[in-house]
Amino acid sequence: MNKKQQIIATAILATSLTLAGCNNTEQVQQPQPQKAVEPEILSFKQASQQFIDDYWLTSPNSALAMGYHKYDHILSISDEQSRQKTLAFIDKQQKRFAQFNADSLSENDRIDLLIIQSKLKQLHWYITEEKAYQWRPDYYNIAYGFAQIINGSYDSLENRLKVMNQRLTNVPKYYQVAFNNITVPTLEHTQLAISQNQGTLALFGDKLMAKIDSANISDAEKAELKQKIATAKTAINGYVNQLQTLEKELVASGKAKSFRIGSALYEQKFAFDIQSQYSAKQLYDKAIEDKNAIQVQMTKLTDELWFEYFPDKIRPRNNTKATGQLIKHIAKRHVKRENFVDEIRAQIPALEKFVREKDLMTLDPSKPLVVRETPLYQRGFAGASINPPGPFDKNANTYYNVTPLDAMDEETAESYLREYNHWMLQILNIHEAIPGHYTQLVYANQSPSLIKSIFYNGAMVEGWAVYTERMMLEQGYGDFEKELWLMYYKWNLRVIANTILDYSIHNLDMTKAQALDLLINQAFQEKAEAEGKWRRATLSQVQLTSYYSGYREIYDFREELKAKQGADFDLKQFHEQFLSYGKAPVKHIKQLMRAK
Ligand code: ZN
Ligand code: ZN
Repeated sequence: MNKKQQIIATAILATSLTLAGCNNTEQVQQPQPQKAVEPEILSFKQASQQFIDDYWLTSPNSALAMGYHKYDHILSISDEQSRQKTLAFIDKQQKRFAQFNADSLSENDRIDLLIIQSKLKQLHWYITEEKAYQWRPDYYNIAYGFAQIINGSYDSLENRLKVMNQRLTNVPKYYQVAFNNITVPTLEHTQLAISQNQGTLALFGDKLMAKIDSANISDAEKAELKQKIATAKTAINGYVNQLQTLEKELVASGKAKSFRIGSALYEQKFAFDIQSQYSAKQLYDKAIEDKNAIQVQMTKLTDELWFEYFPDKIRPRNNTKATGQLIKHIAKRHVKRENFVDEIRAQIPALEKFVREKDLMTLDPSKPLVVRETPLYQRGFAGASINPPGPFDKNANTYYNVTPLDAMDEETAESYLREYNHWMLQILNIHEAIPGHYTQLVYANQSPSLIKSIFYNGAMVEGWAVYTERMMLEQGYGDFEKELWLMYYKWNLRVIANTILDYSIHNLDMTKAQALDLLINQAFQEKAEAEGKWRRATLSQVQLTSYYSGYREIYDFREELKAKQGADFDLKQFHEQFLSYGKAPVKHIKQLMRAK
C-alpha cells in the first residue's frame, strides 16, 4: 500500500460517522435567506455540494473510501455503460462550473473551483486516455471495499452484514466484466492481480464466518450470506484462473503491453495527478541536480567524521563507498527494540518545544496528538504512520500509530532499528508528527472545505512533511550535528532517487540493473529495499514522484519569497499562510499567496 492509500485506508478505519451528521443535502435544498446578498458565493457552495453528492453516486467506491457510507451496498461494475455515465457526469459538471467567475469568489472557493475543474479533467483523462481498465488486471479486486465494511467501526455488525449481503450480489458480474475489459494487459499487472486476488480469498475465510455466526441475525440471513460468499469466492477463483491462463499466453507470445507508459502519457499523468507547476521533465532535471549536490555534501561530512569513528582505518578512495561504510557504522546507535514506541512518544514534546521556541508556527494545544501502538487490525506494515480523522469526522483524535517490533525476529528487528536509528527516528517524527503531517492536518481542518479534504493533493501533503524535515534542521534542530545531517541526506536522497527512478523507468527505458545501481550505489539503500522499489516502480506511475515534487516546489517558493521580501520575510507567517489553504495543490496555493 502506498502512503496515500494508507492514509485513506486508515482514515476510513478511524472514522465513525453517521449519515445524519455529514449529509448537507437538506441544507442545500432549503431556500437560503442570504441568497440576495451574496448570490454567487452561495450558489457556488450549492454547486460544489451538489458536485460531491453526484460524485459519490458516480463513484460509490470513492464514497466508501472517504468514510461516507450511504452507497456501501453498491458494487459498481466497470462496464461501458458506467464509463458513459461518468463521462456524462463530467460533461454536466464542467458546464456547470464554467459559469463561475473565479475572480468574484472568495479565496477559499476559488481554490475549490480550481480543484473541481482539475478533478473533472483528470477523471476524463483516466477514462479516455489512460484507460487503466484495459491494461491493469489488478484494477479489479473487491477486497478493499469489503474489508472496510467487515472491519468498520462506523455501524453495528448486523447492519454492516446486511449491507455486505447486498454488495455481494454483483460480484460474479463484476469479475466477468473485468476480464472482458482486459484487452491489452501488461505481464506485471497480470501477475500482481493474480496474487492480490488470491489474497482477497482470505478476507472471506474462517474469521468472517465466525463473525457471521456471532451476529444477531436470523439463521436464514446467515445461510444466505454464506451462500453469497461461496459464490463470490467462486467468481474470484474464476478470475484468478483466467488470469493464470492469460499469464502463460503473455509469456509464450511475448506480446504483453509494456509496463513503461512512455513520455506522452507520463507527462499528462504527472500533470493531472501531481498538479505541479513543473513538468515531469523539469522535476527530473532538478532531482538529478539535487542528487549530485547532496552527494558532494555527504562526502564533505564523511571526510569530517571519518577519523572520529575509524581512527585506524583507511578511508576508501571511492566517495560513496566511504560514505556508505560510515553510515552503516553509525547506524548501530539505535533504541532498544522494546523501547521503540516509548522513544517515539518521548520525542514529541521535544519537537513541540523546538517549534515554539523558534517561533516556526503556532501549534494548537487543543488537538493533541495521541501516540499509540498500531491497532492489531491495521498492522501488517511495520512502521509508523499518522492516522487522521476522516473528512466526515474532523473532531476525532489524530493518532500516531507505531507498530511495536514484537513480531519481528532478531535479525529483522536489528536491521529495522539500524534503518530507524537514533538520528533517523527524529527525522521520521518530524515528518509524521511535528511539524509534518500531524501539524498540517490540524491546520487543514480549520479550512472548512469538504472539497479540499476529499480531493486533497498528495504531493502537497507529502511535500509539506518532507519540507519540514529540512526546515527543522536548517533552524538548528539537533544543533547542526553532523551525523544528523548525514542521515538526513540519506533520507532525502531516497525521495530524490524515487523521482529519478520513476521518470527513468517510464521515459528513458531504465533497466533493472541501472535502477539497482542508482538505489544501492548512489543512494545507500539495502538490496532488499532497492528490489522492492524497482517492483513498485514497475507497477505504479508518477506516484513515486509526489514526495519530491511537493517538497521541491514548497522549498523553491519559500526561497523565491525570501529573495523578494528580503528582511521583511517572516518564516512563521509563511508557514501559517501556506497551511491555511488546506491540502490544495502547491501551485494553487502559490498563486493565491503571490497575489497578496
Ligand atoms: Zn543493534
Ligand atoms: Zn509522509
